[in-house]
Amino acid sequence: MITCQEFFAEFGDYLENRVSPEVLKELELHMSQCRACHVLYDSTCKTVKIVTESGSFELPKSVSDPIIDRVMAKLRTGRS
Ligand SMILES: [Zn+2]
Repeated sequence: MITCQEFFAEFGDYLENRVSPEVLKELELHMSQCRACHVLYDSTCKTVKIVTESGSFELPKSVSDPIIDRVMAKLRTGRS
């Protein structure tokens, strides 16, 4: 199984559906077995969903990136 660090490295791409099917499988396997990463994924998706649903337009990268950065930064500080 991949490590949390590897998971974080691919996480941004995963959210934007830019990972290969092999990586996707690894990430989903990791999430099914790692609670911390599952929670991260879950809360990030919820946040992104709230933001996207508040407007009818597609979420621009300039908006989604800071959200993801914030979640990631929070997670990193929480784990150290
Ligand atoms: Zn993990």
